[in-house]
Amino acid sequence: MTNPDRITRVRERIEAACRRAGRRAGDVRLIAVSKTFPSGRVREAYAAGLREFAENRVQEAELKIPELAELDITWHLIGHLQTNKAARARQLFQWVHSVDSLRVARKLNDVAGGSGRLPILLQVNLGNEPSKCGLNENEVMGAAEEVGRLERLEVRGLMLIPAFSEDPEGSRLFFGRLRKLAGEIQAARLPGVSMNELSMGMSHDFEVAIEEGATMVRIGTALFGER
Ligand SMILES: *Cc1c(COP(=O)(O)O)cnc(C)c1O
Repeated sequence: MTNPDRITRVRERIEAACRRAGRRAGDVRLIAVSKTFPSGRVREAYAAGLREFAENRVQEAELKIPELAELDITWHLIGHLQTNKAARARQLFQWVHSVDSLRVARKLNDVAGGSGRLPILLQVNLGNEPSKCGLNENEVMGAAEEVGRLERLEVRGLMLIPAFSEDPEGSRLFFGRLRKLAGEIQAARLPGVSMNELSMGMSHDFEVAIEEGATMVRIGTALFGER
């Protein structure tokens, strides 16, 4: 498959999943995960119409993003952020999905750079897996309340990387739990907090994520090929 064909195929699958779920295709944003791929591949995907891209490491992004500065791209950070890279992250990214601790949130709030309130998502570790980054389920409400009070951040939703399961159906329960948790936080009407975004679903399980309410799917391999 050529790369433009891969992109078309992913778009068709997103549309089909939306139809099955009774959702509009416009309600799900395709976020192309370009990590490990050179800027030329981003240009190619941009030419095919993609406008939102994600990187998981600041170090890689600070080389790649400036090479693409003339393109109208919204950049998303989706990997764990070390606090000493927070200032650079604020300059490079328009969204941060991977706010996994209060420490990271406070740092992103306090560093200079960027303009206005940075939209962020709270990353949740639903299985309480020790190897995974993210807030435990019982910490998320409290974290949302605190982060919402930080004047240069805006909490827009939740992000999840479920434990890998061969069968995408294995993730369905987790996606549903994230949606329910977002609903509970929304109902608390915390200042500076809205829960309209659910960043969940990757190449192997994005259709299930869409059926369970994802508004942002983060897709690398299905768009760009194996890393
Ligand atoms: C790499 C990565 C993705 C994309 O994974 P694919 O399986 O290649 O689609 C999504 N989210 C995060 C956080 C990632 O690090």
